[in-house]
Amino acid sequence: MSALEILSRDPGSQARAGVLHTAHGDVRTPAFVPLATKATVKGLEPRDVAALGYDMVLGNTFHLFLDPGHERIGRFGGLHRFMRWDGPIITDSGGFQVFSMGHGTVADEIKGRAPQGADRAGAILAIEEEGVRFRSYLNGEERFMAPETSMEVQAALGSDLALVFDECTPFHVTRDYTARSTERTHRWLTRCLDWHAEHGPEGQLVYGIVQGGVYEDLRRESTEAVATSAVDGVAIGGSLGDRKAQIYEVTGWVTRDLDALAPDKPRHLLGIGEIDDLIRGVELGIDHFDCAMPTRIGRHGMALVPDPDHRWRVDLTAARWKDDETPIMEDCPCPCCAAGFSRGYLRYLLKARELTGLRLLTLHNLAFVQRVMTDLREAILAGALAETAAALRAGASPGLSARG
Ligand SMILES: [Zn+2]
Repeated sequence: MSALEILSRDPGSQARAGVLHTAHGDVRTPAFVPLATKATVKGLEPRDVAALGYDMVLGNTFHLFLDPGHERIGRFGGLHRFMRWDGPIITDSGGFQVFSMGHGTVADEIKGRAPQGADRAGAILAIEEEGVRFRSYLNGEERFMAPETSMEVQAALGSDLALVFDECTPFHVTRDYTARSTERTHRWLTRCLDWHAEHGPEGQLVYGIVQGGVYEDLRRESTEAVATSAVDGVAIGGSLGDRKAQIYEVTGWVTRDLDALAPDKPRHLLGIGEIDDLIRGVELGIDHFDCAMPTRIGRHGMALVPDPDHRWRVDLTAARWKDDETPIMEDCPCPCCAAGFSRGYLRYLLKARELTGLRLLTLHNLAFVQRVMTDLREAILAGALAETAAALRAGASPGLSARG
């Protein structure tokens, strides 16, 4: 039986709305999953994240393996108890972070993001059939991660959804490399499932990861290999292309095949989460997403606003806000706007590097994304996705469903 209970399917697209049942409670889908990479949603407490309406957060196997270590978190009773989050947790397998070190700019290519200092300092030493040998970015120590290691770490963390260890193939490698790497990812999928069947914690769901780069035949082969295996869900990873049209096309190949091969299994789109990507992803039949965007841009002084011409964002560090007494959004119910904090005050806090400024922007941005997701979900349930998607794309303020 699928962990995902589909409540409604949109007749005009592949979209579905439902409830994902996990060992630590339900996740209303489609859902955005905020990053708690290092066992915290940066700047927030778990009660803040829950109050924003989020059901699930995403922790990172690679970072927590290196520091503070999965054995230590295990002694604390697992990641839920360690970080005091009672709800569902998904853990990334670590494949993306390990391979980002070796493949140079893969992360930037796929996610359109600036290099992250921490991931850059480490180095990959060898990619072998057995696993990956790399140098820790923390202390230069040599470490090894095999598919079994990743599953063992995720078992100790006690996450509700574990992702299998994969090679995240970048955009700039050849088709031949992508083909060989995708085949290895499938062999690693089998090893992960074998390890989990014997040692995995009861109730932990396992998602396979579809690779295959931007090649339709490789993506379709990978989709079939993952969808027909013993996984509980399917994640879509790797390079989806360098343009939005291509990202949507590649995602569509996968979800179309999933509609035929595994229509009820839940689907996660890894690392994609711009506002227009979320709308399109939902239409393509994605159930949950994670992305650093809302939290990361907040820390760089950018706030999400209903402005599609400027990628739904405004730079609050700009001088023009110095004397502005209005909130980020007049109709925003988030803790930042509802309390009346002005753009002028926020600009001042950001320029002065006051922690409160970063926290307030994170709250606003995550609240904005949550309202977009709630609008999409309510629209699917009401049979009105096309209208809602068109309104959001045209710059409607999210929260349409709450306003009736
Ligand atoms: Zn707000």
